[in-house]
Amino acid sequence: MHKNNLGLYKKKLRKKLDNERYEHTIGVAYTAAALAMRYGADLEKAQIAGILHDNAKCFSLEKSMQMIEKYNIPVTEAEKLNPALLHSKVGAYLAMHKYKISDKEIIRAILYHTTGRPNMTLLEKIIYIADYIEPMRHKAQNLPEIRRLAFIDLDKALLKILSDTLEYLEKCQIETDPLTEKTYDFYKNIRPLQE
Ligand code: FE
Ligand code: FE
Repeated sequence: MHKNNLGLYKKKLRKKLDNERYEHTIGVAYTAAALAMRYGADLEKAQIAGILHDNAKCFSLEKSMQMIEKYNIPVTEAEKLNPALLHSKVGAYLAMHKYKISDKEIIRAILYHTTGRPNMTLLEKIIYIADYIEPMRHKAQNLPEIRRLAFIDLDKALLKILSDTLEYLEKCQIETDPLTEKTYDFYKNIRPLQE
């Protein structure tokens, strides 16, 4: 069922996203598929979640806020302070109601792709990591190492991304969602980072 819709979602997203964001989206979908192959996750779900994960990314702050009010989408204080975080919430809502995705795992992968969460599912981890390592990305430090690690040990890659993200947010004094910190603590306690 999902398979036939992949092309349709791509077509729709082409109109909803700017060029750079669209290329990123396609990169996330293929990277997620490759990780799904490596770790035995559902390839179609990985691609759908990848294609739809940033569907609300190019909305203006005004439009995002309007949708949040109109549809009563719950947002946290941290999300209000850092509007970049709103797109996961609005995106998950639209994935359900506009793109008619009924699969809860896909919805959650979209919902948590920015912050992560403690005890993520395999698909959630795959989308979170694919978002960070897809080939169009170039800014983050340690990318070559994390890209390699992602195909060797998913949890180690996840932890490295979380610690680098927190470090970056702190350095740039960007409002951090407490959920990102909780996620980092959770995975750090499962397996402490080996330097
Ligand atoms: Fe995003
Ligand atoms: Fe993204």
